[in-house]
Amino acid sequence: MKSNLFTLLFLFSFVAPYFKAAELISVPLHVHYLKSSVPEINAPKDKVDIKKLLKEANQIWKPADIQFFIKEENVIQADEKAAKAYAGLFGLEKIAFQTQSNRQLDRAIPELKEPVFHVVLLHTMPLGFGGRYFPDRGFVLLPQMKYAKYSNSPTGKFPDGTTERPQQGRVLAHELGHAMSLMHGKLENNLMTSGPQARGVKRGTGLVEKQILGARKIASRGRPFLRKERELMTRIDSEPQPNPQNPPTNASRRPPPPWIRVMSPEQRRNFSDLMRKNRQQFEALNKERADARRKMTQALFTEKTDEKVVRKASSEVAKIEADMALLNRRILSQLKPPLSKKQLEDIRR
Ligand SMILES: [Zn+2]
Repeated sequence: MKSNLFTLLFLFSFVAPYFKAAELISVPLHVHYLKSSVPEINAPKDKVDIKKLLKEANQIWKPADIQFFIKEENVIQADEKAAKAYAGLFGLEKIAFQTQSNRQLDRAIPELKEPVFHVVLLHTMPLGFGGRYFPDRGFVLLPQMKYAKYSNSPTGKFPDGTTERPQQGRVLAHELGHAMSLMHGKLENNLMTSGPQARGVKRGTGLVEKQILGARKIASRGRPFLRKERELMTRIDSEPQPNPQNPPTNASRRPPPPWIRVMSPEQRRNFSDLMRKNRQQFEALNKERADARRKMTQALFTEKTDEKVVRKASSEVAKIEADMALLNRRILSQLKPPLSKKQLEDIRR
């Protein structure tokens, strides 16, 4: 009898951790379909198999014992002005599109009041964009379809010969990962492998223990992870953070740039003196950039948009931004005490 009890206790000590991990967390989702006169935004319900997408995403999140289910589905009206502006950005280069479309999408999507996980569907996004998490507002934005005509493909087709493709569950799973506080990484075959640092690393659907624990923490509370929470965390840890995966949709919440984050208080004081001395140059460049951006908007919203003119205006903006970056770098090289090797390494990271 006694030995049986020991055997049982012995076995239980191995099994117990798995019992804990196996507690299933069910996460309610509110799914919203954008309605608009702009075809790039308008997302009719029948243009996406949401059940199939969710099934695929749930399969990926199964090892974490997190399962999403649709609690509410509804149609929401997009802001028409912002929707039109968004469609006008198609044809821009990737970086220009990313920053400007974030702003327009933020305006196009009405307020989602309830503090739950939201998925907003729009019809399509150009280039390589698969989906997006808006960390200031806590919703996942997901296109229904991808079209080769909006990619940079010279043939107008995807490499497999098709011209359009429906959304994949992996993208939804990845964006929900962001909503559960996960950042991009560069692990092979991992769900969160994405972004410029992960170029050449094989993408996948895997999850590691640390990600599972982090995601479960957020999933169990039923509210998405917001950028302001991360900022709070960084203030407490005072650890240098990797760059946020999405450019800010609200400039006032932007964390300081990495070169400032790594500076000692003494360096910061010296840096602001240097900036003061060079203020005129920065102001001049700022003004130039504002003019270039205005020209670009003007080129975009003429009766008949001329792609060449838009591209030229866009590269003018980029040129001024490069001038600003280089000026900033020149100022940084005068810093006293100078940035150490380690600090430079931290900035690059
Ligand atoms: Zn991502």
